[in-house]
Amino acid sequence: MADLPRFVVQHHRATGDHYDLRFEVDGALVSWAVPKGPTLDPTRRRTAFRVGDHPLEYLLFEGVIPEGSYGAGDVVVWDTGTWRPHGTDDARAAVEAGELHADVFGHKLRGRLALVRRGGRGEREQWLLVHKRDEHAVEGWEPGEHPRSVLTGRTSDEVLADHDRIWRSDLPADRAQVVLRPSPGSVEDALSALSELGGQGTWEVFGRDLQVTNLDKELFPGRDGEAPVSKRELLGYAAAIAPTAVRYLSGRALNMRRHPDGAHTKGFWHKERPDFAPPWVGAWDNPDADEGETRTYAVIDEPAALVWAAQLGALEWHAWTSRTDQPHRPTYALVDLDPGSETSWADLLVLARLHRDAFEHLDLQAFPKVTGGRGIQVWVPIMRGPGFEDTRQWVERLSRTVGAVVPDLVSWKWEVRSRRGLARLDYTQNAVNKTLVAPYSPRAAAGAPVSAPITWDELDDPDLRPDGFTVRNVLERLAQRGDLFAPMLAVEQTLPPLA
Ligand code: MN
Repeated sequence: MADLPRFVVQHHRATGDHYDLRFEVDGALVSWAVPKGPTLDPTRRRTAFRVGDHPLEYLLFEGVIPEGSYGAGDVVVWDTGTWRPHGTDDARAAVEAGELHADVFGHKLRGRLALVRRGGRGEREQWLLVHKRDEHAVEGWEPGEHPRSVLTGRTSDEVLADHDRIWRSDLPADRAQVVLRPSPGSVEDALSALSELGGQGTWEVFGRDLQVTNLDKELFPGRDGEAPVSKRELLGYAAAIAPTAVRYLSGRALNMRRHPDGAHTKGFWHKERPDFAPPWVGAWDNPDADEGETRTYAVIDEPAALVWAAQLGALEWHAWTSRTDQPHRPTYALVDLDPGSETSWADLLVLARLHRDAFEHLDLQAFPKVTGGRGIQVWVPIMRGPGFEDTRQWVERLSRTVGAVVPDLVSWKWEVRSRRGLARLDYTQNAVNKTLVAPYSPRAAAGAPVSAPITWDELDDPDLRPDGFTVRNVLERLAQRGDLFAPMLAVEQTLPPLA
C-alpha cells in the first residue's frame, strides 16, 4: 500500500474553543473548524466551518500562537494518523463539490467520516460532520472526555503553561514555527559561532540571521578585579538565557532600557516600529498611549528577538505585568522591597522574611527574586480578573500590615526628604505601564549583575546578596537548580481578602 496522506485534529483554544480537522491533500491541509469537535458517535451531527488551507508545516504543531498572530491561543495535537478518501481518487474535487467521505486511521478517530456542505460559500462555508455507523462507531463518545495530546500526553492547560514552541502565523510557513527550548547542543553551536565572529558579522542564532556589531566593545567594568564585560559576552548570555527568560516576556509589552555604552539612555522605540526591526520581532501599539508617550512597544515572543534587543544595547528587560490582549488585567501582583539610602541588607532581609511569613499564613504561592541591584521583589501570580487598582490596594494593605511590625525600618512618606533613608514597600508599581525588572535580566552595573529568582529559604543564607548573581554565574545556578520561577507559570490563584 502506498503511503497514505495524513490528517490531524488540533484542539485550538482561541477566541472560541474548537477543534480543527485537517486533511493532507496535494501538499496542503484542507481544513474545517469544528466547534464541538469530531465524535465517534454516529447519532451526533456536528457543524463544521470550512477555513483556509493550512501549510503542511502546521500538521503536527502543538504549542502557542502568540497574541497578535492569527488564531492566538493554544493548540494541542488532539489526534493524528492517516486517511483515505472514500469513493473518489480526487479529494480536492470532492471537497469543492461539497461532499467528502474519509476513512481515518487515527489514535482516537477511526472509521468513516462524512463532511457535507450545507450552505454559505467562501469565508464561512457551513458543513455537517458525521461519523458513519460502522464497526468503529461508539455511541455517547465525546471528544472532551479524551482531551490529551496524542503526541505528548498533555492537556491544553499543560501546553499553555509550559509550551516549548510557538507558531508565528504572520511569517512564511517555513519560518513560522519557533522552537523556544532549543537543544543544549544548538545553543552551544550558536555560542561557538559567536566566539568565532570578528568585531561584527552575521550570527545565526535560534534559526534567525542577526547582524551583530561592536562585539569587543567593553560595556561594563569588571567586579573585584575581573575582566570587563564585553558586548560579545552579554550577547552570549542573552542567547543562553533567552529560552528561559522569554517565558516571562512573551505576550507582554517590553520597556527596553538601552545601554549602548554602559550608561543608561532613553528608549529607542517610541512612536512606531523602527525600520531596522526584523519581521520576527513582535510589536504592539498601546491604544491608551497619550500624546508624547511611548505608543509602540516591542514584544519578545521568541529567543532570537531577545538577542536582537541585546544587540541594540537593550540590556535591561522590563515587561508589563499584564499581557497585550488585556492590558488592564495584571497576571502578577508585585511586592517591591526597595531599600532606602540608609537601609542595610540585613534590614531588607527582615522585611522580606516578614513577607514570607505573611504569604505562608495566607497560603499564597509567591516567588521572590533579588533584583541585581539592592532590592528584593516578590511576584504573586494571579488569575486574570482584578484590575491594577485591586492589586495595588491589596499589596498596599499587605505591606502596611507587615510594615507596622517594624515601623522604624519603613517609610511611607516617600517624598519627604528627611525619611528617604528608610526602606520603601512600593505598592505603586502595581499599575498599567509600570514595570519591574524581569527575571534573569542583566542590570547595567559593574560585572553585569542579574535579577535572579531565589527560594524563600535562601533568605536565611548568610551569603545571599541582592547583586550576587551575574551574567557569569547565573547560568550555572540555573543548570543546577532549574528555573525557580517556572512553577509560577502554572499557578492559578486569587488574592484572598485581607482582614
Ligand atoms: Mn483553529
